[in-house]
Amino acid sequence: MNDFERQIVRIKSDGLYSVKIETLQVNLGLLCNQQCTHCHLEASPQRTEMMQWPTMQLVLEASKKAGCQLADLTGGAPELHPHFRRFVAALRQEGLSVQVRTNLTVLLEPGMEEMPEFFRAHRVRLVASMPCYLEENVRAQRGVGTYEKSVAAIKILNALGYGSDPELPLNLVYNPGGPFLPPPQSALEEDYRRELGRRFNITFTRLLTITNMPLGRFRAELIRKKGKEDYMQLLRESFNPHTVKGLMCCHQLSVGWDGTLYDCDFNLALGLPVNHGTPDHIRFFRPKELRTRRVVTGEHCFACTAGAGSSCGGALV
Ligand code: SF4
Ligand code: SF4
Repeated sequence: MNDFERQIVRIKSDGLYSVKIETLQVNLGLLCNQQCTHCHLEASPQRTEMMQWPTMQLVLEASKKAGCQLADLTGGAPELHPHFRRFVAALRQEGLSVQVRTNLTVLLEPGMEEMPEFFRAHRVRLVASMPCYLEENVRAQRGVGTYEKSVAAIKILNALGYGSDPELPLNLVYNPGGPFLPPPQSALEEDYRRELGRRFNITFTRLLTITNMPLGRFRAELIRKKGKEDYMQLLRESFNPHTVKGLMCCHQLSVGWDGTLYDCDFNLALGLPVNHGTPDHIRFFRPKELRTRRVVTGEHCFACTAGAGSSCGGALV
């Protein structure tokens, strides 16, 4: 039993179990037009791992079997996948809501000119990285030019109704620029709204704050700066029992680009598939067992329960 499980059993004596599969999060591959310092998946323009179409078909069948409501597409930059549009159209045809985690800058890449209109036409919900409203902080995490490109992409999306039409949500994602916890989500959302509105006249639906996971490039950076132990200590000491009920592993399942099943995207980054006897590949998808599976945890899980909690949908309490 790891330290995280020891904390959990103090609240739930039988440990951490999922209760439903409302959302299927699908990682289409690790190819990305960016190479951010905080990327827990170490995605980059050099990565070639990519989901094959037959696996996408299995995902479609699994989402039907499990009665999922939302397909949450992630990467890398999911828009760069050659079957991206075909896959989104097929998911929508099955009646699923589709959410895409976009890094925004990809929308300005050659060949992406029609993507915003494609999103609108298919009522795709968007979650977009925007780690700060200040240019220097965005540049430090995501590289030179990313701030201007992100703003330009939001303007294109705003012009189509994203961020104002309730059917076209555009949620922005903040993550800290270093080894500290996010500030309170609602206060920061007000700051974003005021600053982005004042500077660029752009709008968005909600701000989601996400705690940096001590994985991938962020972990390497912590080790390089000899800050890993302090950060882990901060996460452990900030454990908040009220976040446990909302942990995303309890209501979603993550599918890796090769079809392997994970409790979440972070376990995917660590190569920790679902376990405790449940099927761990989309080929063997059995919703009944997977719906109530025991979650595979580790020390990194403290990032989800620290302070106000953290998930792909932002703070938990
Ligand atoms: S954090 Fe997102 S945008 Fe940045 S490299 Fe990773 S996948 Fe790409
Ligand atoms: S890292 Fe994954 S498995 Fe661990 S608590 Fe967070 S969502 Fe659950």
